[in-house]
Amino acid sequence: MSKASWSSRGRWGELARIRILGVGIDPVTMADALTRIEGLLEGGPPGQVITANPEMVMLAGQNESFAQVFREAALVVPDGYGLIWASRVLGCPLPERVAGIDLLENLAALAASRGYRLFLLGAREGVAAGAAANLQARHPGLIICGAHHGYFSPDEERQVLDRIREARPHILAVALGAPRQELWLAGHQAELGVPVGIGVGGSFDVLAGKVQRAPRWMQARGLEWLYRLLREPWRYRRMLFIPRFAAAVLREKYTGRREHS
Ligand code: UDP
Repeated sequence: MSKASWSSRGRWGELARIRILGVGIDPVTMADALTRIEGLLEGGPPGQVITANPEMVMLAGQNESFAQVFREAALVVPDGYGLIWASRVLGCPLPERVAGIDLLENLAALAASRGYRLFLLGAREGVAAGAAANLQARHPGLIICGAHHGYFSPDEERQVLDRIREARPHILAVALGAPRQELWLAGHQAELGVPVGIGVGGSFDVLAGKVQRAPRWMQARGLEWLYRLLREPWRYRRMLFIPRFAAAVLREKYTGRREHS
């Protein structure tokens, strides 16, 4: 029997989370995710939004601090087609993929229409600023209250935190790669007093035009990983998690046992 189940009512959400290899994912559409985030922006408690993928789910199974960040997140959206596949295999289908980069684009539109301030932290020098400029060109009126690269040393961190606090963003998008960005937000979001923190992985590189996103037909078929592998073959080691994830999901389905490696 499958161990996938509808977990009990989440701490923040109206809908119960779906558990994939023990990690709760919110069964939300893009529209639901935006509504939930709007709730946080309009006076809800500060919360983190996690754009989860299979690699992160595997990691949470091995790293208790990361698992805790998942549990405490205000919203965990299924970024990554692998999670949609897994949810179907396990019999609790997630409604649709909510890609982090699309969510960020939609948040920029929301911020532009409501006057919310956005801060971009992460990626190489100049990339966050480039992403900011492109977002502002697409969303007139968007206030980007700051952009900072993600290669600061521990000694420089205090300065980065001060800059974010002084800019008083409503939304802080952090692109430091997973799990660092989620752990960083969990450690600093409350002291920064930012209503919404969201880890967005490599999104700034794409938004700044440094990296190309997979063509739509590949995205629709869950082949973004293949596109990335072809463009960045040195990443193949990291991609070994894909067969391991698939095997773990099938093992959970057919034996009810959960193992992550
Ligand atoms: N990054 C960063 N600081 C670091 C390491 C990574 O700002 O110390 C940035 C990197 O430049 C990229 C983003 O984090 O823009 C995500 O990196 P990657 O593509 O490896 O992340 P993924 O989303 O695949 O985990």
